[in-house]
Amino acid sequence: MSQPNITIDLKKIEENARSISELCNQHNISITGVTKVTCGMPEVAAAMLKGGVKAIGETRFDNIRRIKAKGIDCPIMLLRTPHISAVEDVVQLADISFNSELAVIKELSKAAVKQNKTHKILLMVELGDLREGICQQDLIPTVEEVLKLPNIKLAGIGTNLTCFGGIIPTEDNLGNLVKLADEIESKFNIQLEIISGGNSSSLKLLAAGKLPAKINHLRIGEAIVLGRETTNREIWPGTSQDAFIISAEIIELKEKSSVPTGIIGQDAFGNVPEFEDKGMMKRAILNIGRQDVNIEGITPLDTSIEILGASSDHLLTDVTKANKALKPGDILQFEVNYAALLAAMTSGYVDKRTIN
Ligand SMILES: *Cc1c(COP(=O)(O)O)cnc(C)c1O
Repeated sequence: MSQPNITIDLKKIEENARSISELCNQHNISITGVTKVTCGMPEVAAAMLKGGVKAIGETRFDNIRRIKAKGIDCPIMLLRTPHISAVEDVVQLADISFNSELAVIKELSKAAVKQNKTHKILLMVELGDLREGICQQDLIPTVEEVLKLPNIKLAGIGTNLTCFGGIIPTEDNLGNLVKLADEIESKFNIQLEIISGGNSSSLKLLAAGKLPAKINHLRIGEAIVLGRETTNREIWPGTSQDAFIISAEIIELKEKSSVPTGIIGQDAFGNVPEFEDKGMMKRAILNIGRQDVNIEGITPLDTSIEILGASSDHLLTDVTKANKALKPGDILQFEVNYAALLAAMTSGYVDKRTIN
């Protein structure tokens, strides 16, 4: 094993998707499975679809191309507000895109005319989290303009919460979304096909039966891949949290002091480290570092092992209390959080291995 690897259990992903899809079905909500954290891994998209998601949500063109190249034929939603310089790609690759800038939508319209296609858009509304979204008072005027544009179909409205500002979905803020949808429908005498009420952070409200009834769509990433809702990372019932496991190899194992010797300056990343004196300890160095993963986001499966820190290529661990005797060449395994998964899947130095 020259590189660390991440195993991807497709069966667990499928089962997680099924469990969440079934809950959503009971509430007449269709879900889009979000694969961006896996860089659009086609096998993951396929597992989600097998588990019952109705579409795939992505943020990057390369990821969408990867999925399509494997013959996966499902509706594709572009979740990131498109950039003007890439409207041709958007119309070509996505069935629907999420938008918050009229200037971009006008260009999408031109590209759609050119490609002789109708491009669906969903307008994102700002409800407090301060990531993308049209301010509420600007929504009606924006819709008025959008409805004039050729080859653009307004499919619906939506919002994104618990992302930048950490704002939790409530009956109140999602109630506002529904009110806005009603207002659009009556003012322009149209029917909105999609009212998209958020991401994995909306599941708790849904399960409590408090998601406003008009909401008929969610985009779910983390709850499917890691089995957690995202308002405070509670384990989601009926899902596995270990579909992704990182393995790394011990490259040095020695008994050394717990405190460095000499004058302490800065570490490799410009921080001044501090150490607690725990006497001598068994220290294992692994072949994984900050170029592979977000160290703060990995947890050893053997919980008696403690992570001490990492440089670009080395993970330092205290294995004094490890469950079994260890030696160089042994493999240690780790669970990941979202940040660590994102880094590991994006790093070219981590092998990806799917299991069924
Ligand atoms: C990433 C993303 C999602 C998925 O979020 P999770 O918390 O992983 O469920 C949903 N919507 C948008 C717009 C996104 O960018």
